[in-house]
Amino acid sequence: MKKKRFAMVFDISKCIDCKACTVACKAENNIPLVKDNYRNWITEGPLRGKYPKLGQSYIPGQCMQCANPPCEHVCPTSATYVNVDGIVLVDNKKCIGCKYCMTACPYDARYYNEKTGAVDKCTFCVQRTSVGRIPACVETCPTKVRVFGDLNDPESEVSKLLTKHPYRVEKPEIGTQPFLFYLV
Ligand code: SF4
Ligand code: SF4
Ligand code: SF4
Repeated sequence: MKKKRFAMVFDISKCIDCKACTVACKAENNIPLVKDNYRNWITEGPLRGKYPKLGQSYIPGQCMQCANPPCEHVCPTSATYVNVDGIVLVDNKKCIGCKYCMTACPYDARYYNEKTGAVDKCTFCVQRTSVGRIPACVETCPTKVRVFGDLNDPESEVSKLLTKHPYRVEKPEIGTQPFLFYLV
């Protein structure tokens, strides 16, 4: 079977900052209900439209699932690794909580989970996506900002979106090769 390469595409023009994705992620992945423990977030982007009809844009963020992940390179115990579908994961049993990966991540995508004693971040909901389901944040988003799929499949929605539309990635200049894509 052909190897998969999972990716997420965002149409930020549709994001209404409802944060349903953040709540869904916490519930699905048992993230502690404390400040600073989260796998995804929403930040304010530039204003859109023209005066006087201006509106705020919102930018969802989470681990970029880098193809060249600095978090993996610095991990002294190989707790951070890349799985067969290109997902960067943390093996809680191997994580010693040194937080080197948190420092190395240019996107501030990781946090320390006191409950597990390990560093945590977005897993592309591996428990769902490894069995053909979509991530909780994608399923929950009411305005369909988020599209998840296999970039190695030319027929997938993510492949089609990136073929048809211009897009950007975060911080392309640092060479991390993110697999989160923002339509522009
Ligand atoms: Fe690692 Fe950060 Fe890249 Fe995610 S965004 S793969 S945590 S360097
Ligand atoms: Fe959270 Fe899953 Fe979405 Fe990642 S893909 S932000 S783990 S809900
Ligand atoms: Fe934006 Fe969708 Fe998240 Fe709501 S659920 S904040 S619309 S990405």
